[in-house]
Amino acid sequence: MLDFAFDPPAPKVIEGARFKWELVIGLEVHAQVTSNAKLFSGSSTEFGTEPNSNVSFIDAAMPGMLPVINGFCVEQAVRTGLGLRAKINLNSAFDRKNYFYPDLPQGYQISQLYHPIVGEGEVIVEMEPGVARRVRIERIHLEQDAGKSIHDMDPHMSFVDLNRTGVALMEIVSRPDIRGPEEAAAYVAKLRQIMRYLGTCDGNMQNGNLRADVNVSVCRSGDYESFMDSGDHTCLGTRCEIKNMNSMRFIQAAIDHEARRQIAIIESGGDVEQETRLYDPEKGETRSMRSKEEAHDYRYFPCPDLLPLDLDQAWVDSIKASLPELPDEKKTRLIKDFGLSDYDASVLTADPESAAYFEEAAKGRDGKTAANWIINELFGRLRKERREIADSPMSARQLGQIIDLIAAGDISGKIAKDLFEIVYSEGGDPAEVVRSRGMRQVTDTDIIEAEVARVILENPAQVEKAMTNPKLIGWFVGQVMKATGGKANPKAVNEIVSAKIAPVDSV
Ligand code: ADP
Ligand code: MG
Repeated sequence: MLDFAFDPPAPKVIEGARFKWELVIGLEVHAQVTSNAKLFSGSSTEFGTEPNSNVSFIDAAMPGMLPVINGFCVEQAVRTGLGLRAKINLNSAFDRKNYFYPDLPQGYQISQLYHPIVGEGEVIVEMEPGVARRVRIERIHLEQDAGKSIHDMDPHMSFVDLNRTGVALMEIVSRPDIRGPEEAAAYVAKLRQIMRYLGTCDGNMQNGNLRADVNVSVCRSGDYESFMDSGDHTCLGTRCEIKNMNSMRFIQAAIDHEARRQIAIIESGGDVEQETRLYDPEKGETRSMRSKEEAHDYRYFPCPDLLPLDLDQAWVDSIKASLPELPDEKKTRLIKDFGLSDYDASVLTADPESAAYFEEAAKGRDGKTAANWIINELFGRLRKERREIADSPMSARQLGQIIDLIAAGDISGKIAKDLFEIVYSEGGDPAEVVRSRGMRQVTDTDIIEAEVARVILENPAQVEKAMTNPKLIGWFVGQVMKATGGKANPKAVNEIVSAKIAPVDSV
């Protein structure tokens, strides 16, 4: 069971010249559906291929071509809805959103305005351990992506690449429940994490596979409470929509800037105009793209080429039964089963690959030790090389074996780090590496005693001092460790040195 305190931290407050203002934010997130084929054609969705190589007659909108729905994309949308604890609408339908753009050969986008496939749901966004905000989802609909216009390849011509045309998108619309820039980023991160667990969107923001339109308004504090009581949007300030954000950092910067711009307008007696704006990361500001007056009239109407989408409850139930364990549940379980801290569990469940790696390395072992090795050593090492856990040169099995060698007393913690480095960069079976390189810890007391005796014999002056200053015992331990190349069992060395150099007052 998940255990959160909801809606705790106060919303972000910005001090204007005259008043204090609160932020109100709602996001429309476009997530590219993970699928081999497009929403209404069999063309490949592969990224980065030769321009216009994944374009069928349907994608190019040749006259007379008819769209055919890709059942897998529908399944992915349903899976996403279930993962967001949302209502699945068994009856939905597609609509045409008409507009002209060179990268949209049909002259309309097929979307779902009136009857979306997924209804109300929620996302729990944890802001600090145990403290979370609930962001309500209004709807998720399926729609086609557009192509790409390229204006910067030639001084006189523009180009169009239709590879992306017709790729399935899920538009996930939130309620205006988000109250600050950090929360907005945390919300997108959580959506991304859940969809990556579900396998419904790869969350690659750089490639534009996950991007958000960010709606921002500002209000005085009482106004938001009346909105929450009545659900009446008119209690809120006029919003602006910042289009197409595909970086967590820019989302936060754009919200902060946009809120301050609106506050300055209102405080100087003006009115915020509802409009679509673009964020310019270089200038760090938003600028107007189109205002409500020039907003498109999309003349939506039901798409006559597609039948309404009627789903079977039994089919939805079977998808529900096959859902993987989701991040919140997994985190709670790792804390419980492996005794991990909240922080460690969050880091390890950030993506499904890390969680799977941890579970394999920790199985039947001390979870805390496995977590430390993964978070401190492995992640640090991978980061240095900008590698993902999925292509870690060290497998979870190998790391588990290293942990076993430490637990069995075969190697010391210090030698384990050397072993880690060798196995990471050269591979191999850890136990075999320890054997062939003579890294096994020396626990044989005869060998240790001989080394201790030698160090004592060679350093009479130090022995003299250690007799009256027990702290110097450490120096002898260090010498023995050095002489054995760090392989002597430090505990055994300590005991033997202490026994041999007994301080005078204890004799
Ligand atoms: P439209 O029908 O014009 O697209 P919606 O009501 O569907 O408007 O809202 C679009 C997005 O804007 C949603 O994510 C919603 O949460 C958000 N939103 C609506 N009103 C506000 C507001 N006053 N401030 C911030 N975001 C808002
Ligand atoms: Mg809308």
